[in-house]
Amino acid sequence: MKEYIVYKCVECGTEFIIPKRYIDLNNNYITCPKHGRHTRVRVVGAYDDLCECMKARKYKRNSRGALEQDG
Ligand SMILES: [Zn+2]
Repeated sequence: MKEYIVYKCVECGTEFIIPKRYIDLNNNYITCPKHGRHTRVRVVGAYDDLCECMKARKYKRNSRGALEQDG
């Protein structure tokens, strides 16, 4: 089972990773980490663990505890 879901904001193109347990806590209501009003996001990938996605791309943790692409 994939533990981390990769999303992409359809409106500004920001990619971010959210742990599945966080998604469950928020009833699947996911918004863009850079622009809270952006609610059109789509799943672009999933990872078993964080190391795997850190290797694939550079992410940083934002204030909400989600991970977003660095730079
Ligand atoms: Zn956005």
